[in-house]
Amino acid sequence: MQQTYVNVWDLWPQVERQSRQALASGVLYPIASQAQLLRDGGIDFVVRVITNLARKVKHTESGSSSQSVKDPFLPPYEADLYVGDLSATHVALLNKFNVLDQHLLIVTRAFEDQRRWLTMADFDALALAMTDDGLLGFYNAGPESGASQPHKHLQVVRLPLADVGEALPIQTALNEARPDGLVYRSPRLPFAHAILPLNSIWTQQAVGAQLLTAYRKLLQGVGLSLVGFEEQGLQSGAYNLLLTRQWMWLVPRRMSRCGNIDINALAYAGALLLRDEPQLEQLRRIGPMQLLCACAGERGQTGEPT
Ligand code: AMP
Repeated sequence: MQQTYVNVWDLWPQVERQSRQALASGVLYPIASQAQLLRDGGIDFVVRVITNLARKVKHTESGSSSQSVKDPFLPPYEADLYVGDLSATHVALLNKFNVLDQHLLIVTRAFEDQRRWLTMADFDALALAMTDDGLLGFYNAGPESGASQPHKHLQVVRLPLADVGEALPIQTALNEARPDGLVYRSPRLPFAHAILPLNSIWTQQAVGAQLLTAYRKLLQGVGLSLVGFEEQGLQSGAYNLLLTRQWMWLVPRRMSRCGNIDINALAYAGALLLRDEPQLEQLRRIGPMQLLCACAGERGQTGEPT
């Protein structure tokens, strides 16, 4: 039987429609939070403190007997969370516990380990979802990088990341990025990272292949060994990958958390999510930039070429 894929030009309007529908049917469990800005290193970080965590915990616990064994990213999908098939290998689902209004998960149709290197098929699917300049794509490469699900999933959210501050808080640092060997780096970011401009690729052929090439260069740029890359094996180290249609950037990870604050890719976009007020106090003491540094390693102190 012929497979039907989502019409990518209707993908984001569909995400919006379906988020409304999933909310109305009680399938979506938005995580409510209060956002404020915390300025550090010339960046206005968005800091969110969750206000209804108990609701997610309650839902997860009440479904635990059947859900603990079921991979939520394998079919049958919850009807209102399923957006459509993106490609022969990937499906698009709504994030059930969303902090941002439009949060899409790009999930491999068959189980793949989240710690495997990203592949051309992953980037082909991601490229389909990156339809305009108001989107942020990201990948938490395994539990040490902030992933909570072991089944391979990329994610795309709509900007702005909050109602306060810049649409993408880290943008200032990206705009200051300068060539440094194979990649670019920003003098504003004290932690290990690598950046590449992507501007011209979106109107060209084989966007997925170009994203894969950029990803490979960024991995080399932060000094991650590419062992097993061609065989699509397990990654040699943890990292977060982020992209807009303008920039792709990658941050190696040496810790999943600092103090008791867990961080994922969105923190390296400049948006941090905290459980409660004591964590906010802790963050104020450490400072967002120092937190990001602790979890990524300082520039020049990882294996990144200098
Ligand atoms: P990460 O935490 O980066 O691994 O992203 C996985 C996302 O999947 C989280 O943001 C969760 O909110 C979301 N999630 C967890 N369970 C489900 C589910 N049953 N359906 C859809 N999304 C889910």
